[in-house]
Parts: sequence; structure tokens; C-alpha cells
Amino acid sequence: MNKLEILRKYFGCDSFRSGQETLIDGILSGKDVLGILPTGAGKSLCYQLPALMLDGVTAVISPLISLMTDQRDTLIKCGINAVCLNSAASLDDNAAAERALISGRARIVYLSPERLENPRTLSVFSKIRLSLIAVDEAHCISQWGHDFRPAYLKIAEFAENLPKKPIIAAFTATATPAVRRDIFEQLRLNDPVTVVNGFARDNLFFEMKRQPNDAEKLLDTAGFLRRMGADNGSCGIIYCSSRERTETVSRSLSGLGFSCLPYHAGMSAVERQQSQNAFLSGQCRIIVATNAFGMGINKPDVRFVLHYNMPASPEAYYQEAGRAGRDRKAAVCRLLYSDSDSFVIRALIDETELDAETAAFVKKVRLKQLSAMENILRSGNCLQNEILRYFGEISANKCGRCSVCDGRTQLRDCTVEAQKILSCVKRMGERFGISDTIAVLRGINSRFISENGFNRLSTYGIMSDMVEKEIREITEELIRQGYLKQSEDKSLHFTENTATVLYARTRLTVRLPIQSVKKQFTPADAVKELLSPSEPCDEKLFARLKAVRDKVSSVCGLPSYAVMPDNILREISAVKPTTADGLLKIKGVSPEHFRRCGERIISEILTYINETNHQGGQS
Ligand code: ADP
Ligand code: MG
Repeated sequence: MNKLEILRKYFGCDSFRSGQETLIDGILSGKDVLGILPTGAGKSLCYQLPALMLDGVTAVISPLISLMTDQRDTLIKCGINAVCLNSAASLDDNAAAERALISGRARIVYLSPERLENPRTLSVFSKIRLSLIAVDEAHCISQWGHDFRPAYLKIAEFAENLPKKPIIAAFTATATPAVRRDIFEQLRLNDPVTVVNGFARDNLFFEMKRQPNDAEKLLDTAGFLRRMGADNGSCGIIYCSSRERTETVSRSLSGLGFSCLPYHAGMSAVERQQSQNAFLSGQCRIIVATNAFGMGINKPDVRFVLHYNMPASPEAYYQEAGRAGRDRKAAVCRLLYSDSDSFVIRALIDETELDAETAAFVKKVRLKQLSAMENILRSGNCLQNEILRYFGEISANKCGRCSVCDGRTQLRDCTVEAQKILSCVKRMGERFGISDTIAVLRGINSRFISENGFNRLSTYGIMSDMVEKEIREITEELIRQGYLKQSEDKSLHFTENTATVLYARTRLTVRLPIQSVKKQFTPADAVKELLSPSEPCDEKLFARLKAVRDKVSSVCGLPSYAVMPDNILREISAVKPTTADGLLKIKGVSPEHFRRCGERIISEILTYINETNHQGGQS
């Protein structure tokens, strides 16, 4: 049988997906391969199919027992005899598996990397010919990855000690350039056929939102679940940062009428299996889990993945979020985070129990990953692009679907607002916290304010046109960026950097929701978005930018299209970049364009944003 016949007969598929055939051909021609394909792309087939065509046995190294047994069972259903060797199986089962391998009845064996050091395993492998070692979830080999497993480092040595070195095939979904290099070096791949497929998942819709308040977070979540149709049949995963959290969130949501179950490593194996089965069978709609849940979970119709806390790294985030929409239909990944998430993760990093040298290294990696995650959230750029860039993939086109691209929030120049807040903090004697300061700025009428005489301050009521949430957001940004600090009693104080914002030597930009847009996104909307990805142009701004451009063109005697063509101006009016970087990221804006009128365009946008904000606030 040729590979297409096998594909149809055993795997029930009509054709190969992108990347599969190249990798399979690589293996069949005896070469090492490295397949870096997104979750759900079909990596298993890349080694399972050749396993049926090579003579000899294929060993699949897999990090999780549940993953192995799942895959073995699926293969058996397809009529392929596969076995597992693992510590969870009984001695009898393992012995039966060994016999099946030695007699040639089983051609595929799944095992953990630790098992490679087991004397029984070594004795089995001395009696058979191993033609292929497939290393699944190969990022586990790298300390730069997020699931480091020291035993993966022994695979190369194991392979080289065999009478004839087998082909090595490595697969992973998540690989930054550093992890890719590690896989290549640690597995000692020999000139591998390499396929790196795009990580962009164009059916995923990313939403991220800062949500520090616990009660609001729960309401936010309930609203999101309804919007996703979780009370109406669709299912998804909620990731929490701790075991206790999964329990409380699951309980609260059940109380609100949602069908959910917790899943974490503190539950017994039986309970975990029950939760997982209920979710996989659709009997339970929402699984509320720690990161212990999901590796190898193949459920195709997960419509949403909600992160209830910030994950510890972009790798972990993208892998977990990537469990949504494996059926390639629109799905939503929402991330709720707060500043305290970072503290929790930092504390966990500090607790890592390893020998001193490894600990120092691992700590450095984890901290770097954490700050990469924080930067993605703070970047103010297209989320999918920021994530992809972290994985070494640069894309000029914005995804058009994330909560940055969709125009529900906007990066605004809030320097003036920041100045008002700072001066109020000063006038209140740097003795009060955020809420009191906001109350004064908004001109609230209360005993606290009149008793302290704050209603006589010049800053009393100067921000009465803004909602509390926005003022809070800006104040918190001032704290985050070090222009204000909070003492133990939560009172606000100036820092050595405050003056730069106060005197507008530095501008403060903050991502704030656009009040007027109350668009609610559903997966169906996300699909619509996919079909018309470009953002609406702000016609008023467009007219103003055109005027700026025409002025430049008449001053320097160049045709207007050479200064900046209309179509690019339109895109600029839609995106409203407020920094040089932002402007240069817009497709078509060349350094030449930028030199001619970049600064003027940015300053016009800033003025425009300021004006519209003020009008918006007053109306
Ligand atoms: P990965 O390991 O890359 O995350 P899997 O190997 O688990 O992905 O495959 C994901 C799903 O895609 C499985 O349900 C598998 O049957 C299916 N699949 C794989 N290759 C093909 C193909 N060529 N045509 C159709 N479905 C496929
Ligand atoms: Mg897989």
C-alpha cells in the first residue's frame, strides 16, 4: 500500500494537510525530521503513518500517560496494533505489550522518556529493530520551554547506543527560536527535514482585559459565557492559576446555572478522569482547570478558552488558548488579568525547588517569559501579532480580530488627565489612596471631602466628565510606569519620575475602552470579521490628515501621493497610531513617508483624539 492508500484506509482522511506530506516523505527517505506545527495541525499522523510503512518498530516518546493511552486506543480503533509501556499499566499489561513488540505484532510503542532508562525496556529494545523514534511534544526537551522534562535530554544518547541509530522525528506546537535550537541540538538531529508552519490561527479571536476586581471578574465571566452560548450547548475551558481557584470559580458558575466541573492535579486520578470524560462527552459544558488539563486533549469543538488569570508565559498561553477551535470554526480566547497575577507567578518562580545552578537558570527563563507575557498584554499592538512575534514570526498585517484590532479599546494620550491626577495627589498632601483621590477629581459630595476641605481644592471636580473606571485605569498606569507609588497604607506618593509627566516631558498613553462602541462579539461576528477584516476609517480624522498632508505637499512641492497616498491615510485614520513605531507598522508607510510628514500626522492624531475625548466626555 502506498501512503495515500494507508491515509484513507487506516486514518479515514482524504488528503494530507499542510506540512504532513513533507515530513512523512522525509521520514520514509530515512532522514531526521523536525515538525513545528500548530496544535491541531495533525502532527501524530506524521509519525503514525510512516510507522506502518517502515520495517521495524516505531517508538513514540510522549510526556503524559493519558496522552499515550488515548493515542493507542485511537490507533487500535483504526485497526493498528499499538501498545504502551508505562508505570500506570499493570505488570501483566506491560509484559503483554513487550511480547507484542518482540513477536512483531505491534509496530508502534508509546512510552515516557523516563521509561527509556528502565532495564526491562532496554532488554526489549535489544530484541527488536527500532527504525523510528518519534519525539512528541519535543519542546519538553528545552529548559527554555514551559514543560521542561529532564528525561527528554536522554533520548539522543539512548538512540545512539542502539545497534543501528533510528530515524529521529521531533514534533511540537510551540517553539520560540531558542526552543527550536534546543530541540535540534539536544536531540542531535542530523540535517533534518524541517517544516515550520505558521502559528497564526485565523479562526481564533483574542480578547484581553485587565480585571482586578474579583466580583466583577465573575460577572464579566458569566456575561462572556452567555455571549459564547455556554448556557446553550457550546463548550469551553476556563483556566485558573490555582487549584483552589478552579474549585471556587466552578462552584460560583454552577451556582449561576452553568454546567461546569473542576479539574486539577490535587484531585484523585478517578475524579480527574470523571471530569475529563464528562467534558469530552459533552455532558459537562465547561471545565474549570489548572494548567494540568489539556495536553493532548483533542476535543474539536471547544468554542472558547477563558483565562481567569494571567498565564506564566506566552508559550503556555498560546498552547492553552490554542485548544479552542480545533475544528477550525471561529472560537474566542479571552484573558482576564490583573497586576496581582504577576506577583503570584513571581512568588511561584521563587519557590521552584531545584539544585542551585539549575534553579538560577530556570528562574531566569521563567522571569523572562513572564515579562514577555506582560509585555504582550501591555503592548497596545495587535495581540495575535505580538504573540507570533514572540515565536519568531513577523507579520505586517494585523489580525483584525483581537480586542486591540477590533476597535473596542483604544490607546489614548492621557497626559493631560495624568497631570490632573498628579496635581490632585499633591494637593491632597500625598496622604490618600486611589479611591479618595478619584472622589475629589470627580467632585463627589461627601462628608469625607467637606471635612477635609477638599471641595476647596482647585482639582476638585476637574475630572467630573470622566467615569471612575477610566480615572482609575490611568492612575494605575501611572503606578505601573513608576510615576506614582503606593505606600503600605495605599496612599499615593510622587516618585523621582513624576515631574516628567507633570511637565509633559513624557507623554502617557493608556489603553481605554471606547465608551460609544458597545459591540458584543459572538463567534458568528468573529466569522463575519474574518470576511471583512479591514477596520472602518474615521472620516473626520481622514479629512484632517488629508489637510495636513496637502499642506506638506504644497510646501515641499511634491505631489500629494508622494507625501502619503490616500489609501494609506485611510488606514492611518482607522488605526490612529500615536507613536512613530505605531505609524511605521501600518502597511505601506515607508521611512520616506514618515520623514516627510510622520511627526505632523501623529501630532494631528493626538490633537484629534484629545478633542474627541473631551467632546465624548461632555455629551
Ligand atoms: P496535533 O498533535 O498536531 O495537535 P493531532 O495529531 O492530534 O494534532 O490531530 C488533530 C486532529 O486532526 C485529529 O483529529 C486528526 O485525526 C485530524 N487530522 C490529522 N491529519 C488529518 C488529515 N490529513 N485530514 C483530516 N484530518 C486530519
Ligand atoms: Mg499532538
